[in-house]
Amino acid sequence: MTEKALQVRSEVPEQMKWDITAIYKTRAEFDAAVEGTKAAVEEFVHKYEGQLTVAETIIAAIKEYEELMQTQVWLNYYAYLPVSADISDPKNMELYRWIGNLGAEWSAQLSFFDAELVESDAAVLEQVAAEAPQYAIFIEKVKDQKQIQLAPTVEKALAQLQPALSAPQSIFEQIRSSDMDFGTFTVEGKDYPLSFVLYEDYYMYHPNTAIRRAAFEQFSTVLGKYQNTMAETYYTQLQKEKTVATMRGFESIFDYLLYNQNVDKELYNRQIDVIMKDLAPVMQKYITHVKEENGLDKMTYADIKIDLDHEFAPTVTVEESKNLVQKAISVLGQDYTNLVMRAYPERWVDFAQNKGKRSGAFCATVYGVHPYVLMSWTDQLSDVYTLLHELGHAGQGILSSENNSILSARMSLYLIEAPSTFNELLLTDSLKKDSEDPRMERFALTRMISKTYFHNYITHLLEAAYQREVYKLIDAGQGFDAAKLSELKRAVLEQFWGDAVEINEGAELTWMRQIHYYMGLYSYTYSAGLTIATQAFLRVKEEGQSAVADWLKFLTLGGQLKPVEAAKVAGVDITTSKPLDDTIQYLNDSVDRIIALTKEMN
Ligand SMILES: [Zn+2]
Repeated sequence: MTEKALQVRSEVPEQMKWDITAIYKTRAEFDAAVEGTKAAVEEFVHKYEGQLTVAETIIAAIKEYEELMQTQVWLNYYAYLPVSADISDPKNMELYRWIGNLGAEWSAQLSFFDAELVESDAAVLEQVAAEAPQYAIFIEKVKDQKQIQLAPTVEKALAQLQPALSAPQSIFEQIRSSDMDFGTFTVEGKDYPLSFVLYEDYYMYHPNTAIRRAAFEQFSTVLGKYQNTMAETYYTQLQKEKTVATMRGFESIFDYLLYNQNVDKELYNRQIDVIMKDLAPVMQKYITHVKEENGLDKMTYADIKIDLDHEFAPTVTVEESKNLVQKAISVLGQDYTNLVMRAYPERWVDFAQNKGKRSGAFCATVYGVHPYVLMSWTDQLSDVYTLLHELGHAGQGILSSENNSILSARMSLYLIEAPSTFNELLLTDSLKKDSEDPRMERFALTRMISKTYFHNYITHLLEAAYQREVYKLIDAGQGFDAAKLSELKRAVLEQFWGDAVEINEGAELTWMRQIHYYMGLYSYTYSAGLTIATQAFLRVKEEGQSAVADWLKFLTLGGQLKPVEAAKVAGVDITTSKPLDDTIQYLNDSVDRIIALTKEMN
């Protein structure tokens, strides 16, 4: 990323953009699929509504339902990917809205399917699982649903209301991507353009302290102007979640949100509590070292993402990234490597930086096609981390899709960040191995702390710790305003960073920056996934091939097992705090090694 104004999407060269023609070759093909789906949904309803009473019919219906789901996934992504790459193009938004509304209508028409299955006799469902074992996992989930399913008419109404119920998230995204005008800021007479993405992807890491702090100040000032609208939007989201939780019979919103993850509260709370307490001193030690090495007067919240050694920051082009990616993942074997490297020639990745593009990165696996990755390539080595992270999701997405029905291919959210962060650890390891130079070793270790763990164990975990306090309010029947959210966020930041970081004005508005808050209890899962990834990675280092085989097996599981059992397949026991303790110990050792390397170099 540079300080130049961003180009518009139409100026971006083809090879920097993803190729959505793998989903539908042309818009005409897409339109035909829409028409086909309209008819197919109606036929499905006509054929099966009120008929799902015997195993034979149910099995036939599930087969057709799978196909309907696959087409809907394709239609959705064909509309969603363009809008995430350029929200400023009204044609993209129009298409996305159209498909969103159609999808809601189809879901409402098809809602009888889940409802009738859930109402079915347990014996009939067992017969289905026995006769069609490929659906056993799906049937298991249907049985679980029995406890929380509402009357069919209510389920149908909820499905119809879906676009309205998901409005808070899209309103948040509109405020952040379209409405907020960050203008420019001035340092020593020079003007710098600012945007949300420019701040988060570029200025936050800027080596020049004056520029970095001025950017933060301007960024915070603009955020502040929108805080009341944002707080109200967020409150609407939480009211909705609490209402649905209550309707479905949950006393606590936590139990409702964790129910879908198959995780109990103990696992969830332990993740937050242990990291807040035991990782904090390790990170305070690290950040103080960063401050000293950079000769800063103080470490403020605007400075926490800077590099220890910014002069040693190799640039990497997309082309050059191929080699780094391939080397890093080669430890997982030829098959896995070949699979993931398809990302380049098949253009799974949108590397472009353009106006209207969503900030951050994501991977969307389009079942039956291939995964798509969105990111903004800035020619820095940290981009390779982002790319490998997303390709970790991609590898898991493909392996799970190939080995599971579309109805049960999805991993629990608790596990979702394990494959991605595992690949980041591989990259660090590969960079370390590549050089005997202490500066390079320190660089790789620092990258691991400042990228992999900072992001997953700190940024997102601190979101989770804050989010837990907000949900407690909601559970207690209390509301909140922007000032309350800022107060909660500030308290969490101060608790974690202690005296090592000055939580300067504007830091408390960090609650306005994350879309995760609109996705239930998502933020904490980054650290949960990385805990599993770290344990599995340490196993691969120690045990080699057998641990690699376990990991590859883990990647194929999809939604087959609950998190505790799935982690066991990767050789990790998450029923105790041992994986967390080991991970924090590993980080502590790494920080000590970094400090020792600094001494050696000086
Ligand atoms: Zn991820």
